Amino acid sequence: MKINFCSLSSGSSGNCYYLGNEFHGILIDAGISASSIRRFLKNIDISMQTIMGVLITHNHSDHIRGLEVLIRKNHLPAFTTPKIWTSILSPRRDISTDCIREIPMQHKFHLAGFDIEAFPVSHDAPETIGFHICAGDKKITIVTDLGHICETAAHYIKEANLLVIESNYDDEMLINGDYPNYLKARIKSDHGHLGNHQTSAFLANNITDSMSHICLAHLSKNNNSPELVLQTIHRTLTEKGIVLNGNQRISVLNRYEPTEMIRIGDESN
Ligand SMILES: [Zn+2]
Ligand SMILES: [Zn+2]
Repeated sequence: MKINFCSLSSGSSGNCYYLGNEFHGILIDAGISASSIRRFLKNIDISMQTIMGVLITHNHSDHIRGLEVLIRKNHLPAFTTPKIWTSILSPRRDISTDCIREIPMQHKFHLAGFDIEAFPVSHDAPETIGFHICAGDKKITIVTDLGHICETAAHYIKEANLLVIESNYDDEMLINGDYPNYLKARIKSDHGHLGNHQTSAFLANNITDSMSHICLAHLSKNNNSPELVLQTIHRTLTEKGIVLNGNQRISVLNRYEPTEMIRIGDESN
């Protein structure tokens, strides 16, 4: 089975990721406007008609800003846990019950040719989840907001052929930056975000030969840069004596625009 992945937008300004096969696609989060999602999909030759649903990781606005309009205009079902739905739904949000799909934690469900499993991650929302998605023999794990990697999250991350993982901030930039101390503490806490050193150290200890694509996500605009993330990870891997095999790629996801489509499960690529 051929699987295509594209990040439409990644970071605190908005998150939205596309995952598709030959026939259908799904979106993970809708943190940018519905019109931007439609436009970005069109730019990569994906029709909104092929989208079968939206998976939601948590209730922070950079993950749900476009959700209401997106699902209403396109009659799309949206999938997340009962607790996250409770944190999203409010009288000021016009979300039809027809679009609401509740999913259990760590229990597979099927959508658009994918077997999907939600798992808990540590973050400062009422509940936050990552997704582990299987298609044929390929596995995709997406974890964009988490303060530390607990054992459960580690299990799903290590399984991935395509991994989307947060690398939010550079430690030096955050410490020396302008943010107030309470915000610095929140970001660095176990319920905040993963920094470049944390993500790099975890990957250096856990990277597998079958982890073919590592996409570094949700970079801070003020406390990070794509160059720093890549420098940190490559330096950390080198220090551990790890050399990437010819099939492994590490990339940084763009903040405001779609990244190049990543194709897995297609031996010609
Ligand atoms: Zn976020
Ligand atoms: Zn968040």
